[in-house]
Amino acid sequence: MEKTLITGGAGFLGSHLCDLLLSKGHQVICMDNLITGSLENISHLFENPNFKFIKYDVTEFVYVKDKLDNILHFASPASPIDYLEYPIQTLKVGSLGTHKVLGLAKEKNARFLLASTSEIYGDPLEHPQREEHWGNVNPIGPRGVYDEAKRFAEAMTMAYHRYHKVDTRIVRIFNTYGPRMRLNDGRALPTFITQALNNEDITVFGDGSQTRSFCYVADLVDGIYRLINADYCEPVNIGNDEEVTILEFAKEIIELVGSKSKIVYKELPVDDPKIRQPDISRANKVLGWKPKVSRNEGLRMTLEYFKKKCQR
Ligand code: UDP
Repeated sequence: MEKTLITGGAGFLGSHLCDLLLSKGHQVICMDNLITGSLENISHLFENPNFKFIKYDVTEFVYVKDKLDNILHFASPASPIDYLEYPIQTLKVGSLGTHKVLGLAKEKNARFLLASTSEIYGDPLEHPQREEHWGNVNPIGPRGVYDEAKRFAEAMTMAYHRYHKVDTRIVRIFNTYGPRMRLNDGRALPTFITQALNNEDITVFGDGSQTRSFCYVADLVDGIYRLINADYCEPVNIGNDEEVTILEFAKEIIELVGSKSKIVYKELPVDDPKIRQPDISRANKVLGWKPKVSRNEGLRMTLEYFKKKCQR
């Protein structure tokens, strides 16, 4: 049986990866310090003999007794309001945490996958974003704590690959949504759905002309699973390449919910990227991957989850 450590395994993406890998027959050790992750995301796994949870902060020395075949490094605050609330922790987990976990991968001779991000590209100068784009990031802005930590993490991953011959993977994750997103993580999707369900004003930042491309979580974890099993160490974009403006997106959600909400405009956050759309030709070529779930279908499934959450 393959044994896999998932850091940040109690988070939105981490917990979906725990589910997927258990279903593929892995033994899973989930490590999380629970600052933004939640036990609720993994409580359904506690009875599973192949699952173990360890509450731990991976910026400290990580010791694991068992053999490990794979380490997936997903620990990090990951929404713009989380970076504002936990700027130092965000920097530390991307830098010190990545170093510690790479050290563990070297020690265990385990394959290592870094959860990187489209934020690597900052406010991009190329559209759509190919993996060759070096990015346009403000190092000292409020998002810099996340962007630069992830850029450092990519550099550290490549250094361990080149110098220590660790078998590494880097996935650049674009906007992803689905069940288990936190209602209050401040991102557009949970905020708009919650506002729409309560018939409150929908807060579009700026004039809403900025674009994003939203990927359903099941598609994302399928791409990641393929990357773990591929022999490919260069970064790979995984995301849905259907681009939408934030204003259109807000209108879609109002319609889907059947809400009476009105759109109101608020100030655009500092360094908010104006455009974002992944070029996924590399993922398609190397992994045979492309997203399958349309935005309409994905939003419907996500809405069901949020309805239940909001009722509680
Ligand atoms: N956004 C918005 N209203 C909100 C939250 C977010 O208009 O209540 C915008 C935000 O400014 C950005 C886009 O929606 O342009 C996506 O933001 P999100 O926080 O979901 O993720 P990002 O892609 O910026 O990391």
